[in-house]
Amino acid sequence: MPATTHPTPETASFNVEALRADFPALAQDVYEDTPLAYLDNAATSQKPTPVIERLDRFYRDENSNVHRGVHRLSQDATEEYEEARKSLARFLNAPDPDQIIFTRGTTEGLNLVSSTFGRMAVEEGDEILLTEMEHHSNIVPWQMLAEQVGASIEVLPVTDRGELRMDLLPGMLTDDTALMAISHVSNTLGTINPMEDIIDVAHAEDVPVVVDGAQSAPHLPVDVQALDADFFVFSGHKMFGPTGIGVCFGKREHLEAMPPYQGGGDMIDRVSFEETTYDDLPHKFEAGTPNIADAIGLGTAAEYIMDLDWDAVQAHEEAVLEYATEQLEAVEGVRIVGTAPDKTSVLSFVFDDIHPYDAGTVLDREGVAVRTGHHCTQPLLERYGLPGTIRASFAAYNTREDVDHLIDGLQKVRHMFG
Ligand code: PLP
Repeated sequence: MPATTHPTPETASFNVEALRADFPALAQDVYEDTPLAYLDNAATSQKPTPVIERLDRFYRDENSNVHRGVHRLSQDATEEYEEARKSLARFLNAPDPDQIIFTRGTTEGLNLVSSTFGRMAVEEGDEILLTEMEHHSNIVPWQMLAEQVGASIEVLPVTDRGELRMDLLPGMLTDDTALMAISHVSNTLGTINPMEDIIDVAHAEDVPVVVDGAQSAPHLPVDVQALDADFFVFSGHKMFGPTGIGVCFGKREHLEAMPPYQGGGDMIDRVSFEETTYDDLPHKFEAGTPNIADAIGLGTAAEYIMDLDWDAVQAHEEAVLEYATEQLEAVEGVRIVGTAPDKTSVLSFVFDDIHPYDAGTVLDREGVAVRTGHHCTQPLLERYGLPGTIRASFAAYNTREDVDHLIDGLQKVRHMFG
């Protein structure tokens, strides 16, 4: 999108201070009299009061197991848990809440898909197509599957700017390609991949696509039907929800054909020592007592996000990213890694020869929380010849002041190490 179309935070119809007031963790000082600039949102976001209070209320007043009890509390907990599933279905525009499987997060979602659908779809001699920008969570499960069945991993490269080599995609989808797994937004580069186009091209070759939505769910309105994604997985904790909970959406025909992921209580229809039959969707994939409170908390987070004015939020996030990019570019010795035109919320950079860890440690003492290292994308950083980067990642509640705080901190880093 051209820079001139970005409204500034001052002109956008979005009250960032009102939003910030919902997130108690943002208001604290870290160390003595050092206000916090929380810029590690790609790792995990802070939580708004409605989510915190929802968890508190569940444990104070409603705690009970689901799907099993005849008593009042259990019925209420079951209803709330299933209401949360409906909220998540609306959040993704999924056709049916039964296609929302609660998981521990993106990592578990990808392991679920690779060890069930993957075991059905990938055979000896097949290829699994990934991209060079994948998070380890979207590499290792597929490698494990490839080893188990005798398949191979193919990798769509990225350009120097951090865009996918879309020109190579059609040629890499061969008769042997059994599936493609790809992140919607890169957690290291911030690149927004053209997911609808990618899925169209893959589907034209009958290749199903698994989308890692860990970094898109918090920033882009996601419509799994418009995308035509075969699977879409994400984590709650990066989108204002609790840790330990996430979602795996799947097309109904896949979910119905797939074997269960784990066996145990809650996922069965009938058990005998001779044979077990399984429950219907979504319970077939939710063995054991689920993470009830956090699923309900994630439902609240999804409702919270859906209540925001998305156009205004996105305009604000774009304006903050653009401001941060300009300010960083002006700091002598900074080189931004990932300069695709279509980006969201992530700024990775290196700073002279200063080790990212040293920079991160000084920034921390200045109250600036950033991430340093390989961000679980070692193959990508190897592609750029880097051991790591400093990564500032933004959420809707970040401001230009947070960016200024970062830039001031970087001046201190230069003073100490430059
Ligand atoms: N995929 C991407 C793109 C990510 O950014 C992350 C987390 O940083 C993951 C997968 C793994 O998410 P989780 O650790 O919540 O399972």
